[in-house]
Amino acid sequence: MTASLSLSEVASFKNELQRLLEQLQTEVGEELEQQVHPDINQSTVHDTGDDAEASVELMLSVETLARHSDEVAECLAALKRIETGDFGCCTDCGEEIELSRLKACPTASRCIRCQSVHETGLQQSA
Ligand SMILES: [Zn+2]
Repeated sequence: MTASLSLSEVASFKNELQRLLEQLQTEVGEELEQQVHPDINQSTVHDTGDDAEASVELMLSVETLARHSDEVAECLAALKRIETGDFGCCTDCGEEIELSRLKACPTASRCIRCQSVHETGLQQSA
């Protein structure tokens, strides 16, 4: 099943996804920078208290990464689907994903129907 997206539509989605990916990478980088090095001028004291704070900061960094990593993974997966020509097709049923849905969410990998089934399943298993 091939989506009936035009080459220019696919190209614009690709640009959008790459822009989104760069934005996410910048955000993650900035957040990590702030958390690992909150203020270099203040960290002149080296005692055990500082070590404890440092590990808390590191944990926050991991949480930040985890929060963004899903979005990054979705962007990469969508770009991969553009490469393989699967972009715009639902990964579950293989039908075309609505263009309006893709425009609102270029990383969407399922059509609205399968997405709602997927989310209902998640809620039931939770
Ligand atoms: Zn579907």
